[in-house]
Amino acid sequence: MIDLHKLPLEGLRLNGTTERLELEGDVSLRDLSWSVFVLRSDADIFLEVKGQAIWQGACSRCLTPLDRPLHVESQFLGSKDPELVGRGCHTLGSQDLDVVFLPEDLLDETELVREQFELQAPMHPLCLEACQGLCPQCGKNWNKGACHCQPEAEQLPSALNKALTKALAGIKLDPQS
Ligand SMILES: [Zn+2]
Ligand SMILES: [Zn+2]
Repeated sequence: MIDLHKLPLEGLRLNGTTERLELEGDVSLRDLSWSVFVLRSDADIFLEVKGQAIWQGACSRCLTPLDRPLHVESQFLGSKDPELVGRGCHTLGSQDLDVVFLPEDLLDETELVREQFELQAPMHPLCLEACQGLCPQCGKNWNKGACHCQPEAEQLPSALNKALTKALAGIKLDPQS
């Protein structure tokens, strides 16, 4: 924990390593090394998080497990000032910094590191740009070859249309309704 009331004038730098960090949705990070720098700037707090890790997740199309190197370098401003937080941006020196709401006087550096790594994690990672994905019917990985399923796109609307036509005809034919 970092006590923001007891920051040295020149700021505080913490370095650490984390073997493994579980993120949401079967995703994890391993071999993290990170550094956090915290510096008071008037009423606000300048924050810097840097680090690297191996991201472990899966291809978003074919679900093949993937490893990706992940680099994090982000600088932002923590503030209690609702107006500044609402504006979302603040210029400090020559830098435009995002502003985040920081109501507490204690800062959990591990939580800060987790958040920043999570923000940098790939959203829709692909094993290959041209990944073919999985067959929605039989689940076969199309990168390994085609399957023998009929394309679903043709069948579904016509089956739905038939059912709808039938249902609508039923309503018209029933004098009670
Ligand atoms: Zn894939
Ligand atoms: Zn199939």
